[in-house]
Amino acid sequence: MEHIRNFCIIAHIDHGKSTLADRLLQTTGAITEREMQEQTLDDMDLERERGITIKSHAIQMEYTLDGQEYVLNLIDTPGHVDFSYEVSRSIASCEGALLIVDATQGIQAQTISNLYLAIENDLEIIPILNKMDLDSAMPEEVKDQIVDLIGCDRDDIISASGKTGLGVEDILKAVIEKVPAPKGDPDAPFQALIFDSVFDSYRGINAYFKVKNGSIKKGEKVKFIATGKEYHADEIGTLKLKQTPKQIIKTGDVGYIISGIKVAKEVKVGDTITTVARPAPAIQGFEDVKPMVFAGIYPIETDEYEELRDAMEKLQLNDASLTFEPESSAALGFGFRCGFLGMLHMEIIQERLEREFDMSVITTVPNVSYQAYLTKDKQTPIIVNNPVDFPDPSRLDRVEEPYIKATIITKSDYVGQIMSLCIEKRGELTNQVYLTTDRVELSFNVPLAEIVFDFYDRLKSISRGYASFDYHPIGFRESKLVKMDIMLNGDPVDALSALVHKDNAYDLGKKICKKLRELIPRQQFNIAIQAAIGAKIISRESLSALRKDVTAKCYGGDISRKRKLLEKQKEGKKKMKQIGSVEIPPKAFLAVLKLN
Ligand code: GDP
Ligand code: MG
Repeated sequence: MEHIRNFCIIAHIDHGKSTLADRLLQTTGAITEREMQEQTLDDMDLERERGITIKSHAIQMEYTLDGQEYVLNLIDTPGHVDFSYEVSRSIASCEGALLIVDATQGIQAQTISNLYLAIENDLEIIPILNKMDLDSAMPEEVKDQIVDLIGCDRDDIISASGKTGLGVEDILKAVIEKVPAPKGDPDAPFQALIFDSVFDSYRGINAYFKVKNGSIKKGEKVKFIATGKEYHADEIGTLKLKQTPKQIIKTGDVGYIISGIKVAKEVKVGDTITTVARPAPAIQGFEDVKPMVFAGIYPIETDEYEELRDAMEKLQLNDASLTFEPESSAALGFGFRCGFLGMLHMEIIQERLEREFDMSVITTVPNVSYQAYLTKDKQTPIIVNNPVDFPDPSRLDRVEEPYIKATIITKSDYVGQIMSLCIEKRGELTNQVYLTTDRVELSFNVPLAEIVFDFYDRLKSISRGYASFDYHPIGFRESKLVKMDIMLNGDPVDALSALVHKDNAYDLGKKICKKLRELIPRQQFNIAIQAAIGAKIISRESLSALRKDVTAKCYGGDISRKRKLLEKQKEGKKKMKQIGSVEIPPKAFLAVLKLN
């Protein structure tokens, strides 16, 4: 146990965690040249395509220093704000953290928020200056920032490059010398914390755990404390690039267990595993996640509801931050109201449902969680996670919406434009600090609803990428909110309703109607698209009728070609959703998000 080191890598997004992890794996021989590809640990297709880490990944390395062999368990973590829950779980299974800072960018918003998480968990911090191969690196300036931030010795900062491999040996040495060995009692009853799990259709559920005390042998009878269920440890092992079966896993180590569990609900991230023969008490698990954004997810084919539930349960296993409960919609039938950590998270979940589970789904207009107070009870809020549940204005005393504190670090050149953006988003500036003559930290209190949609993209474009952003919830505030309904030929489509600020309603209603007019294909009759607040129509667009006869193009003869075209048209229709008499493409439900 004294030769085990568990550590994670934390950084702002794109500062080079995954690339540096590759170098560590290569140097320690955990992967061969042949197995090497870029960002090896990002094994989800989606991660490779988008070039971001979504999940934390654990992998074991062996490294010999001064004749002594060490086992190093590395956990690579995501950088985007939406996934900070993954980061906090990884941090809980480590004793040390590599804090990576891009030498060309300096300290950014998530460098700071992830560092605080690591400090709260008493991790030993190893500061690393990355991308030193680039000409634009500013080592002295960024070292000053690091010393300022964590109060370390200037000489403790390791200069590195994930590209050239500079500093990699120094990093491994620092991990061994500075990160404490895991604590725990090897002779105590077995007690391990589940920090992640994944569904495998052949072998059932794999749970990943860190052993706090004692050890476990293959074949032993184990108990998952939260569910109270007992299983046999059919296979246990450590996490190399592939899973490596072992006979025993000991205190301080990170491993996996396969015990024939097929039902997603039986494995809970944060649960404790112990043995039936010598039970240990539960370890304090993780705080429950608080979803920030809610939206309905519905199967396009209404009879795929049960399949969708099954897919969501399996996905939840691998992403404990996803929450969902059944709901129904007049327009879309049966589906689920889901909670997400942010818009990127929502997009990722939708894509994973489609790719990993082959589900075609509709995601409805997202919203944050509001608190409504009725005149008859001004103390107890009604939680509104779905615009449909918004009480009738005549019964309403007041509504409160969630606010966040946003921290933005940027160059002084962009301060003016960023301030205008924040004011447009109903934000109020609370602090402005010059970190250096050229770098400014701005703090705003802003309604969460204004941030979750296009804020991040706008910020990126006005600052040309030189602004980093992080946020934390700061509670609820009273706000003038109204429910805006969208009607197609006079019928309200509940899945298109949104709660919006009163001052934005007219403008938004107009834009949404315009957008829907572009997105809904012409049909055999005229379609009126209207936005309304209560009984009052605030905007209207109309879409004229068109008979689209695709076969007209093939003059008589070619029957098979004609049939093919008809089939194609049917295919195209299949992807549409029938609302009353009108057919809507699934992407129209998210029209509200892309209004510029
Ligand atoms: P992560 O988001 O922190 O995991 O960052 P990645 O490892 O995915 O790296 C982000 C981008 O920076 C990728 O395009 C990498 O190729 C590049 N990169 C990472 N490390 C270095 C480095 O040391 N030098 C240079 N020049 N580029 C790097
Ligand atoms: Mg990464």
